[in-house]
Amino acid sequence: MKFYTHMAFSLVLYSIVAYTQFIQFESWHIPLLLFSSILPDIDAKKSLIGRFFSFLELEHRGFFHSVWFMAFATMVAYIISQTAAKILIIGIGSHLLIDQLNHKGLRPLYPIPFRIKGIVKSGYLADKLIFILCLSYLICFFFLR
Ligand SMILES: [Zn+2]
Repeated sequence: MKFYTHMAFSLVLYSIVAYTQFIQFESWHIPLLLFSSILPDIDAKKSLIGRFFSFLELEHRGFFHSVWFMAFATMVAYIISQTAAKILIIGIGSHLLIDQLNHKGLRPLYPIPFRIKGIVKSGYLADKLIFILCLSYLICFFFLR
């Protein structure tokens, strides 16, 4: 998925979680949420965030696309703030959820070879459709309630 689809989907999940009172909305949540929603793509050299770390030899959709990374990042964030840890679970979790729709698949328990695959190609029609659906939901959620 493209970075904007990841960001939009994380906002959808965040709005649902905030609506259920699991998190009380505060403005600092949004930049952390958007950053964490694209953080797993640090291992993709052509991604928005991966460009800055292209000197690292990381396997795309390896450790950074696993529940282990989500758990590690959440534990580190928990040292700073319990709320920051919740935001990271939503951001990274949303990335892992929606990447499971990708045709290349995702190994959530990396390095265990169990792979979840979808049919969506990054940057193609289905990716853009998911983005538009997320955007439509967000417009309804924020402006029509
Ligand atoms: Zn990804």
